[in-house]
Amino acid sequence: MFKKILIANRGEISCRVIRACRELGVKTVAVHSEADKECMHVKLADQSVCVGPALASESYLNIPSIIAAAEITGADAIHPGYGFLAENMYFAEVCEACGIHFIGPKKESIEKMGDKIAAIELMKKAGVPVVPGSGGPVEADDPKVAALAKKIGFPVIIKATAGGGGKGMRIVVSEETLDNAIIMAQTEAKAAFGNPDVYMEKYIEEPHHIEFQIMGDKFGHYAYLPERDCSIQRRHQKLVEESPSPLISEALRKKMGKAAKNAAAAVDYVTVGTVEFLVDKHNDFYFMEMNTRIQVEHPVTEMITGIDLVKEQIKLAAGEKLEFSSDKIKILGHAIECRINAEDPDKDFIPSPGTIGKLFLPGGMGVRTDTHVYSGYTIPPYYDSLIAKIIVLGEDRDEAIARMARALKEVEIENIKNTSPLHSKIMANEKFRKGSVATDFLPKYIFGR
Ligand code: ADP
Repeated sequence: MFKKILIANRGEISCRVIRACRELGVKTVAVHSEADKECMHVKLADQSVCVGPALASESYLNIPSIIAAAEITGADAIHPGYGFLAENMYFAEVCEACGIHFIGPKKESIEKMGDKIAAIELMKKAGVPVVPGSGGPVEADDPKVAALAKKIGFPVIIKATAGGGGKGMRIVVSEETLDNAIIMAQTEAKAAFGNPDVYMEKYIEEPHHIEFQIMGDKFGHYAYLPERDCSIQRRHQKLVEESPSPLISEALRKKMGKAAKNAAAAVDYVTVGTVEFLVDKHNDFYFMEMNTRIQVEHPVTEMITGIDLVKEQIKLAAGEKLEFSSDKIKILGHAIECRINAEDPDKDFIPSPGTIGKLFLPGGMGVRTDTHVYSGYTIPPYYDSLIAKIIVLGEDRDEAIARMARALKEVEIENIKNTSPLHSKIMANEKFRKGSVATDFLPKYIFGR
């Protein structure tokens, strides 16, 4: 086991990793920017190092600074959390070259899954179903691209090959708007990822986003865990996640889980990762992408399985053998997570940074709150707006919804506009209460557009 882990991240995920380390008897080092001196992860860790100014590119993304912090403090491993450097294969390579363990998969696995087009080709070879598409980058004003779009059939979706966070995506309903959409998606992709390449695939109508947590050890053993349904999204970004999915039968779970395991095996995956699929109205499923890191929504899986995924991730990175097999993992109930973002849902989700006055976050039977904020804390404007995750476990879906609804009523975050009132509306919505909803749920049934 590692002796000291540096967490190259901030906020709630940093706190989450520190907690896992502490239970494993591993010392922790927090890094922070000049704007994050007062953040909870700095207070929770055994040691902390300032790695640069507020701008993420100069601190949390500053590889030389982070490596120096690990060397100065004698950390033998780095946990990247999610976002920032978590899926940067160059960072994994530098860690390795400096003799520091990267808590994640091998750099080759990150590389193979990082380019979405290459990943889709690889999945086809591994027998995992994929969405029909261009199989390569597309350009505007190309008659071949227009012909292919017609062949696939409108609507199609233009996506960034380096994509993430729903950026660089455009749905195209007819040929007239195709070229414009390609150019807009390229511009957005260049700004967000420094890479303008986009590809085209069939737009699956009223899809459900279903993903599988997988685990793998260095001895070639893999397991999949029960699915998460992440179909409640705004602008292709997840807001609510639940497990198991009301849509998925035991037979489909087994079939998709096996496909997820095959996807992981195709890239010799070690530690924990997530294979994302879209499921259409015929219950056909298609590989979308693999995230080679821990995800924001991992707690719903932890709640329904009782498995601490971050501890397992650390153990697997340290070379331990996988202790689980998919068929022995029991579903203990129904879990839901609501992401509480410092954003104003009534004003198109504009960020709402500032100083928190009174703060009350819910607890009680079956309620877990993962957060880094406290009363008097100032939310900086520089980073992700996620300030808390509320996760509930109920005996069944009805109990989980009732529990989440009551937990949300308890939330008080004075001075900060946040998404909790929106979540209350979702929990009260009849369509949501009846079962799995498609990714168009929020715009159609909550915002009425
Ligand atoms: P990102 O990496 O930016 O998160 P993903 O490929 O994971 O992008 O897609 C994010 C979301 O975009 C999906 O959950 C889904 O709602 C929507 N989406 C992506 N591809 C398609 C598609 N082919 N058809 C319909 N919706 C899609």
